[in-house]
Amino acid sequence: MAAATTTTTSGSSPLEKGTTLRDLPKSWHFTSSLPPDPLFPTPADSHKTPRDEIGPRQVRNALFSWVRPETQKDPELLAVSPTALRDLGLALSEAETDDFKQMAAGNKIFGWDEETLSGEGYPWAQCYGGFQFGDWAGQLGDGRAISLFEAKNPQTGVQYEVQLKGAGLTPYSRFADGKAVLRSSIREFVVSEALNALRIPTTRAVALTLLPHSRVRRETMEPGAIVVRMAQSWLRFGNFDLLRARGDRENMRRLATYIAEDVFGGWEKLPGRLDDPDKPTNSLEPKRGVSEKEIQGPEGTEENRFTRLYREIVRRNAATVAKWQAYGFMNGVLNTDNTSILGLSIDFGPFAFMDNFDPAYTPNHDDHFLRYSYRNQPTIIWWNLVRLAEALGELMGAGASVDDPTFITSGVVSEDAAIPLIARAETLITQAGEEYKAVFLTEYKQLMTARLGLRVFRESDFDTLFSTLLDTLEALSLDFNLFFRRISALRIADIATDEARAAAATRFFYKEGLTITSTPAEEAAARERLGEWLALWRARVVADWGTLTDWGTGPASSPVSAAAEDARIAAMKAVNPNFVPRGWILDEVIRRVEKEGERDVLKRVMHLALHPFEDSWAGREFEDGVVYEGDAEEELRWTADVPRTARAMQCSCSS
Ligand code: AMP
Ligand code: MG
Repeated sequence: MAAATTTTTSGSSPLEKGTTLRDLPKSWHFTSSLPPDPLFPTPADSHKTPRDEIGPRQVRNALFSWVRPETQKDPELLAVSPTALRDLGLALSEAETDDFKQMAAGNKIFGWDEETLSGEGYPWAQCYGGFQFGDWAGQLGDGRAISLFEAKNPQTGVQYEVQLKGAGLTPYSRFADGKAVLRSSIREFVVSEALNALRIPTTRAVALTLLPHSRVRRETMEPGAIVVRMAQSWLRFGNFDLLRARGDRENMRRLATYIAEDVFGGWEKLPGRLDDPDKPTNSLEPKRGVSEKEIQGPEGTEENRFTRLYREIVRRNAATVAKWQAYGFMNGVLNTDNTSILGLSIDFGPFAFMDNFDPAYTPNHDDHFLRYSYRNQPTIIWWNLVRLAEALGELMGAGASVDDPTFITSGVVSEDAAIPLIARAETLITQAGEEYKAVFLTEYKQLMTARLGLRVFRESDFDTLFSTLLDTLEALSLDFNLFFRRISALRIADIATDEARAAAATRFFYKEGLTITSTPAEEAAARERLGEWLALWRARVVADWGTLTDWGTGPASSPVSAAAEDARIAAMKAVNPNFVPRGWILDEVIRRVEKEGERDVLKRVMHLALHPFEDSWAGREFEDGVVYEGDAEEELRWTADVPRTARAMQCSCSS
């Protein structure tokens, strides 16, 4: 049915600029900075142990266990993300090599010599815990993810930790099998790269491998797979939760210090105090690069370096959840073990992009209380941040005494000392809550302003434009992301009158009409309602773009010049994706790969995910000098209305 994807290289592509996997500079900072599982203190201890004897157990006083991936027979590399390879620093052609294919299946370990049982590094699985659906769940950890190495891109200097998901049992597998099914692996592979292309912070996916001999029991028997994924850090709130639950103060401090120094690049990169007199007024962005001594914070708070670390984590997560809200993305399982220290979207299970706008929607079939629904995401991330604050509270509340030798070894020993510590921690957490709200709102307003094609945000826009739009989309069950793409191309001149606006409103309806049962009167009322909103939007576009004198003159009838209109449309298309990987598209891709043996469809869905803002893809040359053949029919289908029976689908957690 679909045309084959063939690409022709014209000239030398930037995707070929990278290095080989072998030459990629690798490191093992995480494992050399933090304590290993005491049962296998060295890689050799782990390597000498038969693979099937490294099974689930409680691991204490450790941040990780050395554990190698299971060996796989006849792995089939199904697809790669050219963009992730580039960002990692690898040449695209490297994906064709045996080194890469074996690494992606867990069969090749870099940095380790099996003969001499020695080397620079060894694979590992992290130890963490978490609150699941609000309840403390105890030790969790990387139950099926195994990290291989950290690699620094020689060109950009950005370091990623490369990890395999579905690589076999670890000490953290609990009652499960350490495997991942092809279905959920395809979902994670595509959505990671789609989110990144939408500029939403996320962990990345490099490659997808099918394990032909692996049959995995879920609701049915399914094929197994491995995703090679990468992130600047895989640390989660759950790492801190577990240390707190176990009263492990020493590792709490070590881990916090490791994150500040190694993950965030140094204490001086963290935000300085909010009331800094040198900070420009009205700027939410705190000054960075201030030394510890300068940090006092508002009266009595003594913002020490651990508070600044906490605030950095707060700020990053606030910005990310604002992006999820602005793009209608839901993770579906925002437990603290799935909440990233770096504010990355992480651990993709029953995630979804919003179809018809419904704030109460959750993609998680098992989330009966709607804990992780769209509208709850900002509250839940704050809930998770408060759990993190409880873990870091002692270090934050200690203020300027945080480095006193007795505090380091014994903490607060008297009630007299504990009372001010707790009071200070509470004040700091309350302040961080305000900062969370402020960063969230700033980011959200900025994104919505851009998505609606405005040049400046006005305070009145929030209620008049944003809220009324969301209410209207919800009331009329209109598709969230299609709305933004479709309004991008709407010209001001075409919505100048009530009649014209009511007519234009139809373009936001599904092809079958408002609903399949809606009456002509209901349709007319809906057109009128949307038309009224379009009048408000039009006025704002005119206010922002109409007064510009340097755009040349437009048609006499339009208050906005043609050139300004073109610029506005281009700006809107650059932020409003034409392609988002909806549940039904992923289901189709899964079926075609799994049941019909197709392979190229993965390349095509990945290409669209990596270039979401284009009007079309097939037959066009992309920035890397490669002509993309694609499939014009398929891409039209994937960017059109969501089929009626496939809207707002839900899936289970089983993956
Ligand atoms: P999740 O909510 O999917 O991120 O998973 C929660 C915990 O269960 C994590 O510690 C995972 O590593 C673990 N887990 C989930 N599925 C499996 C599996 N098939 N095998 C081993 N561990 C798993
Ligand atoms: Mg998880």
